[in-house]
Amino acid sequence: MSTQFQQGEISVQTQHIFPVIKKWLYSEKDIFLREIVSNASDAITKLRRLASLGQYEADDTPYRIDVILDKDAKTLTVSDNGIGMTREELDRYLCQIALSGALEFVEKYENDNQKNGIIGHFGLGFYSSFMVSDRVEVITKSYTDADAVHWECNADGTYTTELCDRSARGTTVIMHISDEESAYLEKSKIEGILEQYCAFMPVEIYFACEGDAPTEEPPAPINDTTPLWLKNPSDCTPEEYKEFYRKVFHDFREPLFWIHVNADYPLNFRGILYFPKIGNEYESIEGQVKLYYNQVFVADNIKEVIPEYLLMLKGILDCPELPLNVSRSYLQNNTYVSKVSAHIVKKVADKLTSLCNLAREDYEKVWGDIRTFVEYACMRDRKFYDRVRDALLLPLTDGSFLTVPDYLEGAKDTHPGTVYYASDKAAQSQYISMFEAQGIRVALFDRALDVQFLSMLESYDSTVKYIRIDADVADVLKQDGAAKEDEALISLFRAVSGKDDLKVAFSSLKDTSVPALLTVSEDSRRLEEMMRLYAAGGMPVGMEMPEDLTLTLNTASPLISKLSSLEADRQKTVASYLYRLALLSQRKLSAEELSEFLGQGYALLELLV
Ligand code: ADP
Repeated sequence: MSTQFQQGEISVQTQHIFPVIKKWLYSEKDIFLREIVSNASDAITKLRRLASLGQYEADDTPYRIDVILDKDAKTLTVSDNGIGMTREELDRYLCQIALSGALEFVEKYENDNQKNGIIGHFGLGFYSSFMVSDRVEVITKSYTDADAVHWECNADGTYTTELCDRSARGTTVIMHISDEESAYLEKSKIEGILEQYCAFMPVEIYFACEGDAPTEEPPAPINDTTPLWLKNPSDCTPEEYKEFYRKVFHDFREPLFWIHVNADYPLNFRGILYFPKIGNEYESIEGQVKLYYNQVFVADNIKEVIPEYLLMLKGILDCPELPLNVSRSYLQNNTYVSKVSAHIVKKVADKLTSLCNLAREDYEKVWGDIRTFVEYACMRDRKFYDRVRDALLLPLTDGSFLTVPDYLEGAKDTHPGTVYYASDKAAQSQYISMFEAQGIRVALFDRALDVQFLSMLESYDSTVKYIRIDADVADVLKQDGAAKEDEALISLFRAVSGKDDLKVAFSSLKDTSVPALLTVSEDSRRLEEMMRLYAAGGMPVGMEMPEDLTLTLNTASPLISKLSSLEADRQKTVASYLYRLALLSQRKLSAEELSEFLGQGYALLELLV
């Protein structure tokens, strides 16, 4: 049989493609293997389809792809038993179509400064093999009875085609790895790439190293051809979800919960998203959302497909309709992409709401883990907040949880539309017990992010006000009946505090053991907190107190009711000490105030001995 030898040269116009391909995306060279293996997988998918249409009579040999590394021969070979190519097809597909495809791709992005912005760097196809090879051979036999062909192309664009002997249907691509890219002759390197890009491809892939001793056991494929995300959610067990998570993310902590999206219509995409367990506040909460295109890995953490505030999730998304051969800016304006993104946001919100309503106990258990992230997401996206607002849990000082609507329902009669909160359980313990004694529940907002979160809650819903328990609280703590004002006591406390404009109020508090409360209004405290945040180096102790103070004297306390009848000196000592005590429960004393306070304390003790 004549080999019908033919020589060719890729046209002058296209010649410059090879040097460009060689340099292409220095850090992303790994994708060449994905391109070659997905071509092999496509070739098998095509043959399967022909078989299912009755246009090809399948034999019993299982479909498979073999990746073989030969370090001595310096080759990496990918073989498939798929549809194969006739001589004409090879000429058309590889010399014309694949080439013009690659050429178009290179021309489009050659001068693009944002090379890394190209999603997954798809598009170069077959010719991406020249990023790492200086010669590529293709030996292929069509599923028809056409003769087998051997094609060989050099990195300068010259190629030869000849007929050859091969009886088995399919295609073998032999890449002669160039000396500069000898890293691709390392077994671990190839294993790593296959694991990253090919772990879920739909055809079994076997990897072998020429020269490795044969193992006793039959080799296993490196991939899982029917990944969990393709299954029907109702057929998957929690154990399967957890195992998939461990395998894919190498995270041996159990995920908190997961969402399985399996949609055909109107949006065609699938995936599983996990809420990971986060060790502590300081641990990086960077997640990992892997994007796939028909079971082929494309890239991690594509912000255009999943909103940035959900990137702490771990999971995979398979988007078969994603236009891959595009740049990020294109994706940002793509309707399919924005619909997928909106759908994910909705699914996450629905999951939180359904857990809150239907599995409240479990939800409370994980709230500590997901709270920071849910609150952050609310701050970033008003729409997300609107969806989850009734599933936001307020942690209470007694360790329990309430949603905002439930808190407000309980507050209807005593303090409608107001949520009282503490920011420091230890420092505000006196206030907390006064509130609790009155049956008023106190929310706990004691983390750095909480101040901003509260302002956000108020700006989203102005009908609810958040007030710290040491703010203007005398009203809610007082008992029925008016308290009598006493001008003499007002002057007395103004004198001992050294503040002529000190606001002094009288209230008959239910808790008679507390003689005096010093409060700062919510608004002025927040203003002061903000100023402190911006003041470089912080403000000195004693300066921190804004002037908008109210001293509430509890007329129901025996100390206050007896104060008026004391003789002047004693009255002054007791009032001064009371004022410092009230100050102390509000904030730290300055050095001067502290020494004064101690002196008074000793003097009082002397009275007792
Ligand atoms: P794409 O896969 O995007 O079409 P490629 O450059 O990777 O572009 O491949 C061009 C064409 O060459 C493919 O569409 C296919 O028809 C043919 N081809 C490539 N590899 C194989 C293979 N292993 N078996 C059969 N045909 C192949």
